[in-house]
Amino acid sequence: MSDPQLSHGLRAVVFDVGETLVDESRMWAGRAAAAGVTPFALMGVLGALIERGEDHRRAWEILGVSQPPAPTCIGPDDLYPDALECLHAAKAAGFIVGIAGNQPADTAEQLLALGFKADVIASSAEWGVSKPSETYFAKLIDALGVQPHEIMYVGDRVDNDIVPAHSVGLRTAFIRRGPWGLIHAGQPEVCIADLQFDSLSELTAALRHR
Ligand SMILES: [Mg+2]
Repeated sequence: MSDPQLSHGLRAVVFDVGETLVDESRMWAGRAAAAGVTPFALMGVLGALIERGEDHRRAWEILGVSQPPAPTCIGPDDLYPDALECLHAAKAAGFIVGIAGNQPADTAEQLLALGFKADVIASSAEWGVSKPSETYFAKLIDALGVQPHEIMYVGDRVDNDIVPAHSVGLRTAFIRRGPWGLIHAGQPEVCIADLQFDSLSELTAALRHR
């Protein structure tokens, strides 16, 4: 059965990057190694910070180490296996497709090199503003050239994706995966998401039946 959230007046679907399209496990393990701590210690501290709603970048301070260098490039093995298929399904369904996350400036080139074909690819570094700022989502709306209610924003975080996108009038889809997704799924605010999925495979199926 088609979902009205994916049909009635929807013109654009925009995807967050980290833990929505990209599995960041390798990146975080690499950062643990670079900082001289075990992956177990880093992941545990990150989980506690996520649960408490604190900035995850405090992890380095808690671990008593300097923040390691910026993460390495996104490689083909870092993509969630359902990521490309979902982007292609959104495009095939006739939507404007966007990719917009809190990411370094060269993320667009990296994603294009991996076969992502999107109409708008932007990052917080390029725009000089990060989620959850409303300015970030205002820039996104301008870049897409459609009305807020005609956009579906897909993300794994309630605080950075669902709440701020909803507050500026976008439709939202919450993806319950990755540490933020799994922990945030238990928060009451998650109910404001228009749609909820456990994977992009589920969203792909919904897009194909809209
Ligand atoms: Mg994310």
